[in-house]
Amino acid sequence: MQRYSITKALNLPEHKITEIILATDEEIHLRLKPYKRKKARCCGCGEIHGGKIHSFKETVVEDLRLLGKRVYLHVLKRRYRCLKDGRLYVESIDWLKPRSRVTNRLAQEVYRLTAITTRRGERRLAGF
Ligand SMILES: [Zn+2]
Repeated sequence: MQRYSITKALNLPEHKITEIILATDEEIHLRLKPYKRKKARCCGCGEIHGGKIHSFKETVVEDLRLLGKRVYLHVLKRRYRCLKDGRLYVESIDWLKPRSRVTNRLAQEVYRLTAITTRRGERRLAGF
């Protein structure tokens, strides 16, 4: 699979794939880095500070399956010093909640499937 098609399939335009860490029949591990032109939003105050990057922090989250394989994203988050309170914060990412182990869209998908299964279960109980 080519990097370009993975990039397209992922549809996370603010991040680029810097490395395909692992690709087996079961799972794909990708390293993602934010594009420099995309400024980091402070998760402390919600503003864009645009100062110097203090450091990077990598988190691993699971994303939607791709071609039947489980996808794990190793996401590099930038860490900044907030200009408002002087503390260090990691950038907030639109498609990822802080400390979550899955992307928002995977969480939504799981929720959707659970809702369908639950409804089916209720119907069965009701004698349909
Ligand atoms: Zn801030």
